[in-house]
Amino acid sequence: MSAKIKVNGKLFDAEEGENLLEALKTLGFSIPSLCHLEGVGSPATCGLCLVEVKGKGVVKACQERIKEGMEVTTNTPEIGRMRKENLLFLLLSSRHPSHCLFCDEKDKCEGIDSCLKGYHIKRGCKNCPMDGRCQIQEAARGIEVALREIPDPRDMDVVEEPFFVRDYNWCILCGRCVLACNQVRKEKAVFTQPTISLTELDCKFCGACVDVCITPSLRTYEEDPDLWGKTICPYCGVGCGIEVGMKGEKVVAVRGDGENPVNRGELCVKGRFGIEFVQREDRLKKPLLKTSTGFEEISWSEALDIASRELKKREGFLGFLSSAKCTNEENYLMQKLARAVFKTNNIDHCARLCHASTASALSMSLGSAAMTNSIEDLEDARTILLIGTNTTENHPIVGLKVKRAVEKGAKLIVVNPLRIDLCDLARVWIRIKPGRDTFLLTAMAKVIVEEGLYDRDFLEKNTENFEEYLEYIKKLSLKELLEKGELEKDQVFEATKLYATNKPSSILFAMGITQHINGTDNVLCLSNLALLTGNLGIRGSGINPLRGQNNVQGACDMGCLPNVLPGYQDVSREDARREFEKAWGVDLPKDPGLTVVEMMKEAGKSIKALYIMGENPALSDPNLKKTWEALEKLEFLLVQDIFLSDTARFAHLVLPGASFLEKEGTFTNTERRVQTLNKILSPPGNAVEDWRIICLLAEKLGFKRLFNYSHPREIYEEMQSLTPLYAEVEYGSGRQWGGEILHEKGIARGKGRFFKVEPAIKDEVEDESYPFILTTGRSLFHFHTKTMTGRVEGLNRVRGVEYAEICQEDAELLGLKDWDRIRIISRRGSIVCPVRITERPQKGVIFLTFHSREAPANILTGDALDPISKIPGFKASAVKVEREV
Ligand code: SF4
Repeated sequence: MSAKIKVNGKLFDAEEGENLLEALKTLGFSIPSLCHLEGVGSPATCGLCLVEVKGKGVVKACQERIKEGMEVTTNTPEIGRMRKENLLFLLLSSRHPSHCLFCDEKDKCEGIDSCLKGYHIKRGCKNCPMDGRCQIQEAARGIEVALREIPDPRDMDVVEEPFFVRDYNWCILCGRCVLACNQVRKEKAVFTQPTISLTELDCKFCGACVDVCITPSLRTYEEDPDLWGKTICPYCGVGCGIEVGMKGEKVVAVRGDGENPVNRGELCVKGRFGIEFVQREDRLKKPLLKTSTGFEEISWSEALDIASRELKKREGFLGFLSSAKCTNEENYLMQKLARAVFKTNNIDHCARLCHASTASALSMSLGSAAMTNSIEDLEDARTILLIGTNTTENHPIVGLKVKRAVEKGAKLIVVNPLRIDLCDLARVWIRIKPGRDTFLLTAMAKVIVEEGLYDRDFLEKNTENFEEYLEYIKKLSLKELLEKGELEKDQVFEATKLYATNKPSSILFAMGITQHINGTDNVLCLSNLALLTGNLGIRGSGINPLRGQNNVQGACDMGCLPNVLPGYQDVSREDARREFEKAWGVDLPKDPGLTVVEMMKEAGKSIKALYIMGENPALSDPNLKKTWEALEKLEFLLVQDIFLSDTARFAHLVLPGASFLEKEGTFTNTERRVQTLNKILSPPGNAVEDWRIICLLAEKLGFKRLFNYSHPREIYEEMQSLTPLYAEVEYGSGRQWGGEILHEKGIARGKGRFFKVEPAIKDEVEDESYPFILTTGRSLFHFHTKTMTGRVEGLNRVRGVEYAEICQEDAELLGLKDWDRIRIISRRGSIVCPVRITERPQKGVIFLTFHSREAPANILTGDALDPISKIPGFKASAVKVEREV
């Protein structure tokens, strides 16, 4: 609501309730202020933003709100005097080195050692990295502070954190860092213990504190760039916008892109500080051919000759693994190469290992296999069911939205076998045992049915198969579901009632739900719940799978799956194939191909050669020993990557690709937003953009006419003309396919379909020989198989080694101490790693990330597959644990 206010006797319009300081600045008044954080608030520590409000006297503008009829005076002699006193007090009490404020020899300064004024203190004007752009200097100039007293320096130790320095000798105690940490990022890092490293104080190293510090107290090791370029974070599926600072050809800084609608300037530690891998010396710079003595560098012309000859020789026995790290255009070309040139649908990628069950289940029940809502509208949810996702670690910016939603009043239900950070905010935390999800979700459906909490109107208009499903649910025994699922009745009732009645309710889920041998059943159960309660098609609701890698959504959309062409058009449907055949002028194979794990199982038999672009199955596939044997059985393995990954070491030929900073194209994030990459650097040495490599290879194979592009935009436009899903999303528009909310104008498949799911434990279970369940996951500080984050010094400093986690009770039972080394043994192999005793796992459960080559968790996991989606059951493997001596 607009309000009329008077400032210095003139009338202005402002917003009723707006912060007075911000309103005055917007109106063009220059008000000094050091501690206020725009849009967030103010700790009111600096006392500089004083103004006079009629009827109130002199007040801090940052603490006042606009009111109709307010009369403000921004400067009076008294205000000037008080500001001066407050600034002097601030500088003297904080003992901030302040010579720069009055030194008349400053221009001649050559450093503190040769100081003309004899200021023999540790830090002075010349040593201050903020000199010339310091807000304190600016405020002091405006206030005309005449400091004639030199405060004694504090002489505190400087703590060198992994990504920034904490040097409290400069700190003026304004509190902005604490505000950024607590209010903006909803974290609770402790800044008041200056001598203890933040690595020991639960800091997430998002960098928000550094970004708001106005002194050199918190400063990164970054340099001032000459140029900033915008692009998209290469890590998780959230797809945050970043700006990369360049000095010549060197990346020297990163900051969040404030204009990007996904993150609005905020980043997690990986996006903010984790991209230095791009310029590591060990980047692949030339094609490598394996010889009897190791890898030998060869020319591109030789490499393309060998690649085309060896692949051609094995036509009919080929498999292709595309990449969730590469662009949409590159993925489109990879499946085109497989299908149009080699006539095979044996193309897949790592989505098989993370969200294949989401794709199958949501396609079956809703007709669209993607996140239904937008990240932004989470803040409108009144209930959030967070199941099988450690959101703050794996999708940190979405985790932040969840925290904000809870702050605004949303009720949070967490279902997770681990005690994750968000459990602290949960109204209900169901500490489920791994593999029991179908019992819980069916029990929730049963409660909804029995208590009459379903949305009859929505059901009638939007669903099919409801009556049959209802009959089925009615026959099930709640008591049995609770017993078999090892669930507490009260918790199940409370969670169900919240989800069904405190609407809109949003479901967020990730690999804790999908990576099971009955992953498709799990997701179908979630879909049943959303359909029952009408939690679809409106803001703050929906079924929202959080995708793991930056472009895993895009790689699926581009048809890098063995059963669908781009846009999920079934390969076995003649009409769908015909469109592509017409456009490409070739016949296409109609039988679905093999999935990732199936290709590995067929290695040496129906698969004699594999072309792998940017994937690392040698660490990410289940049952690794079998995967390694499979890779060794291949007659020809062609790997295209930016580093000599674990998989590349098995290759006969390695082609050097380009990183995300070295190419153009698009990524599609978890909320279906198609964002553009900008080329900021040239690829190192003779490395080449992946889309160009595919084109060069196709040309060698005699298919130049089909792969003749000069820019990724042309590839995108071809894809768009064949993919109705992308028809509305122009290259560079940054829009979401399907709009902000899917199913808003009706369910994509016409009617949402209920599926009867038989509650069951399909994963491996513990027994006398293998009494623990191992569940695998990720850490905030590393990504996937560490090919990128493992090359970032700061991330390795925060988390150098991967360790297993076990609860106190189990540790005592096994006689383990923190950091002991343990051997974890499953039916498929064993690994050795350190163990930490934490409160995260429950009794009988051991947690380990799958990041590390030193302790490859996937040696332990099994390769039994979900029968529909063919996803392996990574989340539950029976193991035993021994102390390693
Ligand atoms: Fe990158 Fe994901 Fe972190 Fe955003 S949340 S900065 S996309 S890793």
